[in-house]
Amino acid sequence: MRHYPAFLKLDGRTVLLLGSGEVAERKAEPLKRAGAIIRQADVFSPELLDGIALALGADAPEAELHALSEAAQARGIPVNIVDRPELCSFISPAVIERDDITVAVSTGGAAPVLARMLRQKIEAVLPPLIGRVAALGARFQAAVRARLPALPARRAFLERAFSGAPAELALAGRQEEAEAAFATMLESSETRPAGMVFLVGGGPGAADLLTLRALRLLGEADVIVHDRLVGEAVLDMARRDAERIYVGKLRANHCMKQQDINALLVRLALEGKRVVRLKGGDPFVFGRGGEEAAALARAGVAHEVVPGVTAALACAAQAGIPLTLRGVARGLTFVTGHTQDGRLDLDFEALARPGQTLAVYMGVVTLPALRAGLLAAGMPSDTPAAMIERGGTPQQRTLRGNLTSISNEAPEWTTGGPALLLLGEAVAMTAGERALAYAA
Ligand code: SAH
Repeated sequence: MRHYPAFLKLDGRTVLLLGSGEVAERKAEPLKRAGAIIRQADVFSPELLDGIALALGADAPEAELHALSEAAQARGIPVNIVDRPELCSFISPAVIERDDITVAVSTGGAAPVLARMLRQKIEAVLPPLIGRVAALGARFQAAVRARLPALPARRAFLERAFSGAPAELALAGRQEEAEAAFATMLESSETRPAGMVFLVGGGPGAADLLTLRALRLLGEADVIVHDRLVGEAVLDMARRDAERIYVGKLRANHCMKQQDINALLVRLALEGKRVVRLKGGDPFVFGRGGEEAAALARAGVAHEVVPGVTAALACAAQAGIPLTLRGVARGLTFVTGHTQDGRLDLDFEALARPGQTLAVYMGVVTLPALRAGLLAAGMPSDTPAAMIERGGTPQQRTLRGNLTSISNEAPEWTTGGPALLLLGEAVAMTAGERALAYAA
């Protein structure tokens, strides 16, 4: 983050506006709405800075703008000169307003046009009357605090109110009914919330491959329990003040035992917390989500599983490799190269059969054993293959070849990031070859 966002109280404060013209007028307008008293001048002199909260410059001669910027910064007064980032000590963001709700967008000064485009997108998704929902919150703030003094309970209640009937009525402009619904809901609210655990698939590591449901839950979580595969980009989507617990697992170096993770999830839920157990990819694909769900069920803890984009899908998509292909690959098998006691316990006869694609998870280290097993079961040594590292992220790397070449080259090629092996005839065809094959 290059600049720290904040919202200023300007009610009754004086703001200096240097310059006069169309741009200056446009700048003055929101300042007045925020209650500021505008001191306008065309020529800078130091006394103009006395007692002011903020200084802005636009539509004034260059020398005046420079003088203002320098003097204001020397006195520690925040200053903004329109379209002159080098003269500014603060940025004036693109703003979306809905009554008391203000959304401000900044690109750190790098691309104001992009900020304005983002503003348009946000304008489109924010309901026009969302400010009324905020007003509802303000109206009941004291009552909610009195009834639900503990923060988790209060938060859980407000989340229900702001997504339930009271909010819907406010959005429809039916304020009185909204208030009545809010009051009823508050009276009947549980004072102690039941905790809940969400087993959430975080996808391959790119924030925009999260599902909308995962994104919402991350924004609402009290605690996030995550491991190594979950990237920073995904964690950045979480509520800022959510507690984060790292239970990372490196192969053969489990930093917390599965049993202890299960116990941790149960304990946090029993404390009344909303827990997001965030996993790379999908929780139910080699993610031990099944074991965690069973432990939660045994302890009587409410839980929900949220699917994620599993590594095989993300890798294949970005590498342009179809996992099934009409007439070439009729099936897709997810297997793990992970070993129990150093042995690969796989049904090689079934895996070596033609007409399918294999997606091998956790296969880098066990590649030699995997190849030996597949070859012994009759898979051709030149079966097309691709190894994909950090798939679905901007750092994705792809190594193409066949079963033999990939087995030989992978140890050199890998940089230690998570990698997946795709194997089968469909892996070989480029988009151009597919176009030809299906042209007929
Ligand atoms: N639940 C996860 C898989 C966890 S097992 C999922 O659904 O994706 C861990 C293995 O997944 C890694 O050893 C690697 O083989 C694979 N993997 C996870 N993320 C990956 C990524 N971004 N790119 C390639 N492989 C990945």
